[in-house]
Amino acid sequence: MLRVTDLHKTYGRTEVLKGVDFTVERGEVKALLGPSGSGKSTILRLMALLERPDRGEILLGGRRLGVQATGGRVVHLGERELARQRTDIGMVFQKFNLFNHLDALHNVMLGLTQVRGVKRAEAKEQAAAMLARVGLAERARHFPSELSGGQQQRVAIARALVMNPSVMLFDEPTSALDPELVGEVLAVMEQLAADGMTMVVVTHETRFARRVANEVAMFDSGSIVEQAPPDEFFDHPRHERTRKFLEHVH
Ligand code: ADP
Ligand code: MG
Repeated sequence: MLRVTDLHKTYGRTEVLKGVDFTVERGEVKALLGPSGSGKSTILRLMALLERPDRGEILLGGRRLGVQATGGRVVHLGERELARQRTDIGMVFQKFNLFNHLDALHNVMLGLTQVRGVKRAEAKEQAAAMLARVGLAERARHFPSELSGGQQQRVAIARALVMNPSVMLFDEPTSALDPELVGEVLAVMEQLAADGMTMVVVTHETRFARRVANEVAMFDSGSIVEQAPPDEFFDHPRHERTRKFLEHVH
């Protein structure tokens, strides 16, 4: 479903991604672990088409994203076409990024009406259904300031899901939450995985990764140093770097 090959990204003189390769099969969950500053958010931003790679390819369902081949030449897509491709990739950020002047329902509707051109009544119906799916049917008319962090993050998940994406990317979705609110967000994500969504999740929640991920990858200094199914990854890490990291997060 999602394939990344030889992905490179440099900011100024900092080589943040040094040739990253990985594949997520349809319906599978890949967890990305790694220390702060190792490039985890960067790779998600590239996959979400929020930034361009310097080199390498991102393929979604066999289609190369962000570029168009015309007469043998590869051309970067314009903003309009990029915006359309982005709707096929749902992204959930650490800090929710909701619009504070809109209630939950209107936050979820926005992509449908603005990007997809869906009629308001139809968008409202779909948004309400999606809020119900994340357990927030009763909170549809609440503004972000009237919702807990866990509820806000579930609105953000509903907002991404309502676009019916092929893949969902999560960037430390529970890191900004009070501990007692982490579980409700992870429960929604686990249900989503059980429903067959293809997901990439950057997380420090190793118990979640063990339970839900099909594969876990260890990121360090802009490369994947190790990836394996969760039991193998957590019980028999092969690399010293992974062992050291796991000692800290366990
Ligand atoms: P992680 O999510 O693993 O903590 P990031 O992908 O956020 O890591 O960042 C990796 C490195 O890239 C860090 O050194 C960070 O300072 C740098 N970086 C990220 N985004 C930018 C940017 N827009 N401009 C310059 N440097 C950046
Ligand atoms: Mg990050």
